[in-house]
Amino acid sequence: MWFRRDLRLSDHPALLAALEQSGSTVALFVLDPRLMRRAGPVRRAWLAANLLALDERTGGRLVVRRGDPAKVVPEVVAEVEADQVHVSAETTPYGAARDAAVASALAELGHRTGRPAALRATGSPYAVGPGLVRKGDDEPYRVFTPFARAWREHGWAAPAASPETPGFVALASASGARDALVQAADGAADLPEAGEEAAWRRWHTFRDGALGDYRSGRDRPDLDGTSRLSPYLSLGVLHPRSLLADLPGGGADDGTTGPAAEAFVSELAWREFYADVLHHRPDSAWADLRPGLGGLRYSEEADAVAAWRTGTTGYPVVDAGMRQLLGQGWMHNRLRMITASFLTKDLHVWWPVGARHFLRHLADADLASNNHGWQWVAGTGTDASPYFRVFNPVSQGMKFDPAGDYVRRWVPELRHLPGRAAHEPWEHEEGYAHGYPARIVDHADERREALARYAAVRGASGRGSRPGR
Ligand code: FAD
Repeated sequence: MWFRRDLRLSDHPALLAALEQSGSTVALFVLDPRLMRRAGPVRRAWLAANLLALDERTGGRLVVRRGDPAKVVPEVVAEVEADQVHVSAETTPYGAARDAAVASALAELGHRTGRPAALRATGSPYAVGPGLVRKGDDEPYRVFTPFARAWREHGWAAPAASPETPGFVALASASGARDALVQAADGAADLPEAGEEAAWRRWHTFRDGALGDYRSGRDRPDLDGTSRLSPYLSLGVLHPRSLLADLPGGGADDGTTGPAAEAFVSELAWREFYADVLHHRPDSAWADLRPGLGGLRYSEEADAVAAWRTGTTGYPVVDAGMRQLLGQGWMHNRLRMITASFLTKDLHVWWPVGARHFLRHLADADLASNNHGWQWVAGTGTDASPYFRVFNPVSQGMKFDPAGDYVRRWVPELRHLPGRAAHEPWEHEEGYAHGYPARIVDHADERREALARYAAVRGASGRGSRPGR
């Protein structure tokens, strides 16, 4: 069983298939340098902590090797004379290409040794695998609402049975791999507790508490109003199908779930939608999904981008979000939208620059949700917020962090300002008394500039309507 984005033992169809078909099973994880290079310390710490938790669940039998999976997986196969390698299917551009390379390396090994070993995919990280929800004419959906409707109609399987405590085969990990994980996990001080049991505890706390107010609470970064399960979902420590089945009414669209649970199901559907879009359009990982803004003029002023990355733009709510990202590897959805809007519309930077920074630092880094979330804000994606919708970082802060608590938590230089005053240090005599930086740009000017750049492309393409307010 080659684990990737499925670091759990329960509700795991691929693991069940491995145990049922093969009996004696090796639990393998490959630290792929190509993926590790792109991850910052918090993201690496989160992965390491969850690998250690999985190791514990397997009775210390998780085999951790390092290197290119197309080399490492066949090596392990040869070592234990395996005839099958079980995985959960991957549909991201890199994951799919990697798996194709591993499958052909296994076929080659089989030719050489006369012992064929197949790569067998069962299940995926989604309730409905990407590519399965299609329109009547077999085309993929490009708009969320009809996708979500068809996704619910398609439905999903019940959770897979939990295996009897599986006895995994003992095999050595790469030398020093375990120590390296322990060392990396040390950086996880500000992260949630790792592992399946902690994930389930968090889910139950949320389901029995904040879920009731989810529709109003989910937009407030100063409250604990969302599930904060994304870091677990991104590594597959929990499967969305398990959550859907554990909601009141089982996530069914038959009136048995309340509106709060419905809203939560809809958020899970966004995750599935973006995975589906990326599956059909792998090029949209790093290029505009819709070409309409192809001619837009971008800037990339190094100092401004550095101020955005380090949370020193002088706009309190933006800086609070960017500092939380570096500290905790997580950011509330509202903050992701505000900070992404600031980079793309106030600093006029092309969205991949910001998407790359997010992916490096988010513990829940997910190529599909992240890069399409960015494109939604930038106005280039599916269902995109129109380009001319520019978030005002001050009024957004005041609306969604009305007492300034969130800003004061993450920006110590503003802790002396009471209530909503934390959102406008420039209005207070003592606002800058503790070293908070001045604003690097004037939002009103940059909004006008963004709209002028937008009007220039829309005019040039001849398709444009006039930018709105
Ligand atoms: P909840 O509100 O509890 O939602 C439950 C689950 O639904 C989430 O865990 C997540 O899996 C899914 N979900 C919720 N909102 C969205 C959404 N808008 N798009 C896709 N899935 C969603 N999410 C990631 O998991 N990884 C990312 O790398 C990521 N990058 C983002 C970048 C930008 C610019 C934006 C605007 C959004 C991004 N999101 C990303 C989506 C969203 O912000 C997070 O999923 C959410 O904030 C996670 O917190 P939660 O688990 O408490 O969410």
